Amino acid sequence: MSKDIEYNQYVADMTYLTVLGSTGSIGKSTLDVVARHPEKYRVIALTAYRQDELLFEQCQQFNPAYAVLLDEAAAARLQQRVAAAGLKVQVLCGEQELERVASLPEVDAVMAAIVGAAGLRPSLAAAHAGKKILLANKEALVMAGRIFMDAVRQNGATLLPIDSEHNAIFQALPRDYAGDMAASGVSKILLTASGGPFRDTPLPELRQVTPEQACAHPNWVMGRKISVDSASMMNKGLEVIEAHWLFNASADDIQVVVHPQSVIHSMVQYVDGSVLAQLGNPDMRTPIAHALAYPQRIDAGVAPLDLFKVATLNFVEPDFERFPCLVLAYQALRTGGTAPAVLNAANEVAVEAFLNRKISFLDIPRLITDVLAAHACVPVITLDDVLLADAQARAAAQMWIVQR
Ligand code: NAD
Ligand code: MG
Repeated sequence: MSKDIEYNQYVADMTYLTVLGSTGSIGKSTLDVVARHPEKYRVIALTAYRQDELLFEQCQQFNPAYAVLLDEAAAARLQQRVAAAGLKVQVLCGEQELERVASLPEVDAVMAAIVGAAGLRPSLAAAHAGKKILLANKEALVMAGRIFMDAVRQNGATLLPIDSEHNAIFQALPRDYAGDMAASGVSKILLTASGGPFRDTPLPELRQVTPEQACAHPNWVMGRKISVDSASMMNKGLEVIEAHWLFNASADDIQVVVHPQSVIHSMVQYVDGSVLAQLGNPDMRTPIAHALAYPQRIDAGVAPLDLFKVATLNFVEPDFERFPCLVLAYQALRTGGTAPAVLNAANEVAVEAFLNRKISFLDIPRLITDVLAAHACVPVITLDDVLLADAQARAAAQMWIVQR
């Protein structure tokens, strides 16, 4: 145990935690659950991009050993406030520090809740350090699934999915599931999707939709990037690729099921005709609490599901014409190699441009289609293959926006 935890004796049953992206939607929900169980969880490190005010509040509440910011000016402000408040928090700055706090020897579990490709290296660092990884950052798996899964296996890390669908699938699979669907009698993974805010919007109206409309999800409150992804259903596409890596399921084994109520969080279908589902209110604190406590159960602060209030559950097939991003993601998964990393990078640039009102909502799949078509896919052998494809795709996407 490091001497950094001098203010608190090491407690045997305590889980020592790093929360990457603590100021985001998942980060805040994680701290909400943690705060309910001070006897079980102790925060060692918190990180954010540049939200120093919120990070300071979190430092006051959780008294971590480290707080990391990416932005230098924000880190300087936090340093001042921490000193003025007399907190024993070490303020760090920079990408490498994210990797450091994800792999500290005194840390047991890492919540990987940075959004986008920026989360890849720190999440991977946690895998290399053999941590229990609570993975919300699906983009890391989409970009570098094989490298990530190999790092988990080779270093004895534990990977627990936070994405509500994958957490549901994890719960519905046999406890000893080892990545062989046939051996476990699993015939299909049924990945549910709400369909987002534009599920029933007349197609011509999609041309004019604004970032505000795209971010107004009917069932979930989330960060802006994943909200736009949900509106385009790229989120579901990324989740198909995520499920492929987590559960060793092929594209054909994963069926997207549109379920507007978001009460069933996903299902597993077995060869004997059984379908096991996990249900609950749409509140990310449920999968977070599940993964934090696994294999035990703890209170998440989530209201019990009222089935009488829910009353009806509907299911429809996905509309691939309305949601071309879903098609693009399935194609990228089938192509393999660097294609999913290119899909992800092009999508990140497109979503950012849409949020900044530089391109329209319908430009998102157009941009991704063109960037993917121009990219010469190669197999992924090393992390550099992924990072190069990511950089090339971002450059091509920026060019697309300029030349449009
Ligand atoms: P968010 O935008 O609310 O928060 C992102 C966090 O990452 C913030 O703390 C931010 O400061 C930090 N961050 C952003 N850019 C960074 C950078 N370049 N370097 C370091 N840190 C950076 O996002 P969110 O909605 O909490 O989503 C986080 C991840 O969880 C995403 O990968 C998302 O797909 C996944 N996820 C989210 C939800 C949800 O309900 N919000 C559900 C399932 C999965
Ligand atoms: Mg999800």
